[in-house]
Amino acid sequence: PFDVLIVGGGPAGASAAIYAARKGLRTGIVAERFGGQVMDTLGIENFISVKYTEGPKLVASLEEHVKEYGIDVMNSQRAKRMEKKDLIEVQLENGAVLKSKTVILSTGARWRNIGVPGEAEFKNKGVAYCPHCDGPLFEGKHVAVIGGGNSGVEAAIDLAGIAKHVTVLEFMPELKADAVLQERLYSLPNVTVLKNVQTKEITGTDKVDGISYMDRGTGEEHHIELQGVFVQIGLVPNTDWICETVECTRFGEIIVDKHGATNIPGVFAAGDCTDSAYKQIIISMGSGATAALGAFDYLIRNG
Ligand code: FAD
Repeated sequence: PFDVLIVGGGPAGASAAIYAARKGLRTGIVAERFGGQVMDTLGIENFISVKYTEGPKLVASLEEHVKEYGIDVMNSQRAKRMEKKDLIEVQLENGAVLKSKTVILSTGARWRNIGVPGEAEFKNKGVAYCPHCDGPLFEGKHVAVIGGGNSGVEAAIDLAGIAKHVTVLEFMPELKADAVLQERLYSLPNVTVLKNVQTKEITGTDKVDGISYMDRGTGEEHHIELQGVFVQIGLVPNTDWICETVECTRFGEIIVDKHGATNIPGVFAAGDCTDSAYKQIIISMGSGATAALGAFDYLIRNG
């Protein structure tokens, strides 16, 4: 059996694996796709101490670093169940069962897509999901934010400080964000809020040049010229399979304490699949390290 089995091979899982292996623990990573969301990222400018890198390049460095330590990497394998017996057993979709003294869950999350024409085509070409990551690329430009919940309105307030103009599109007749955020939003001179509208298409040729939407009251279609679209309709944790076993929030985020421990002894979690306040590469790596040290502490005490 493993001492530490990590489920998920994004930045959180890679960091947890290196920290665990450096304690001399028998460490394995099982990952559906090593690299996780970072594989889908073009430019990265906020991975501190690296001024600029690209997703696949960072993943290659992660892999190289992991390989230094004899960590057993089982790529292209999906976990579907976990059960605590004497050891913790993780069942894979291919039928195999992996056993370990501790488990670190780091299955990450995915941005919910709006699913209109142009979204997939212009991803990284004007369509963005993370204002902390990509906001500065739109300095002085006109951008749209789709979604008027807390994350959408926070994104719009954030982007209003960088972009020339921000248009918020909300499907429902009212914004759903907290009142204080709405007040702040409406106080900004360079923000337009469109409510009761349905996004129809993100337009462009080689990059985004506009957005088409329908006024749900009148049925009329409109088009706005702009250079960027931030889709802010939710970040979904990849935890469907695990929340029946470990305690999660109502949003499906695994609840962890400051050692990265879940409610099940010996089971830890890290990164975007947890209830951590912010979801970023550097933050997920930090929490991966925390969870590995948490697991090490647990093993010292529980053999
Ligand atoms: P993930 O990266 O999501 O990795 C999850 C891992 O778990 C993957 O290996 C996945 O295959 C695996 N997995 C999932 N379910 C299972 C299962 N059942 N069994 C086995 N394996 C499973 N952050 C920044 O800091 N800077 C940026 O510039 C930036 N840009 C971004 C751009 C885009 C387009 C996106 C989508 C995200 C961006 N982020 C950025 C956010 C950043 O990528 C995430 O915060 C970070 O990757 C989270 O790491 P993680 O390891 O927790 O999860």
